[in-house]
Amino acid sequence: MTLSLPPLPAKQTRPASPKISCVVPAYNEAKHIANFLIDLQTTLAAFTSNYEIIVVNDGSTDNTAEAVATVAADCAVRYLSLSRNFGKEAALSAGIDRAKGDAVILLDGDYQHPLELLPEMLSLWQTGYDMVYGVIADRRHESLLKRWGTGLFYNLMERDSVINIPRNAGDFRLLDRCVVDALRQLPERNRFMKGLYAWVGYKSIALPFTPLDRASGVSSFRLRGLGKLALAGITAFTTLPLRVWSGIGAVISIASILYALYVMLETLFFGNPTPGWATLTVSLMFFSGVQLFSIGILGEYLGRVYEEVKMRPLYLIAEDLDHGRTDAATRT
Ligand code: UDP
Ligand code: MG
Repeated sequence: MTLSLPPLPAKQTRPASPKISCVVPAYNEAKHIANFLIDLQTTLAAFTSNYEIIVVNDGSTDNTAEAVATVAADCAVRYLSLSRNFGKEAALSAGIDRAKGDAVILLDGDYQHPLELLPEMLSLWQTGYDMVYGVIADRRHESLLKRWGTGLFYNLMERDSVINIPRNAGDFRLLDRCVVDALRQLPERNRFMKGLYAWVGYKSIALPFTPLDRASGVSSFRLRGLGKLALAGITAFTTLPLRVWSGIGAVISIASILYALYVMLETLFFGNPTPGWATLTVSLMFFSGVQLFSIGILGEYLGRVYEEVKMRPLYLIAEDLDHGRTDAATRT
């Protein structure tokens, strides 16, 4: 099931026997990660013998490390362990930084991203697309609040951001080497990956899919987490929330001048005493709220500038075990 394909450039240069890397972030996935890696390996082996699977253990507190170790040698896994939980985006970056493939596939370790789609992703890449991104075809099962929030987020991004972030696209995607190299050039700490994928550009194509149910456990991204992610995206890719205050400030100033005129004229011509404390208290409270809110928005941006200037590394690697055979041609 693919969307109608946009025109391709005349020249496509894909290596004759490409190396494929798969990056799997894993946070508390002990229950199913071993089976998942075996299934992934089987899927990849059907396509090529030249592949690597990079598992990034993002500071799991369960037995994810032991579970991966049981199949690491058989599945030729490169196992990276971050020094603590840095979040999915950092875990993905750690994997992408080390992936050596001509194409790099990012997929979750909880079976939600269907492995059956990998051959289609790879063949779209072979035909010349530099990025094949999974798009959630059906969000009807999600709560109304989540759908409403997501809709609002994309509307805001579409209105103001110079880049166009495809709706309902996630981290399930294939990246060509050129995209990987481009992503690695972006120095920011605040890595809103969906935005970064769109920012780098290149020929991209959507591949609709329906996420499967989580194999076990619960999603790490609750509504609050999604809200934080949306805020990260908005502050990283648009300055609309900052600029909107100039407009609001102007409107309030004009309104207050008009009101001052009205009060003056009313007193001069009708001799009415100036209205009392109610107007004063309400307007004081209202405008204090407006001011605090605008300072808060400034703070959001300032906080992010502060994060960026500290230039801390995105993640720290505690362990890096390569179970892959160095000569891929000998892999059976
Ligand atoms: N993940 C991670 N670090 C985190 C949270 C999640 O590496 O701090 C991984 C997780 O193991 C899974 C993927 O990111 O492979 C997606 O996470 P999850 O299933 O919790 O989120 P959802 O599917 O709801 O987006
Ligand atoms: Mg999931």
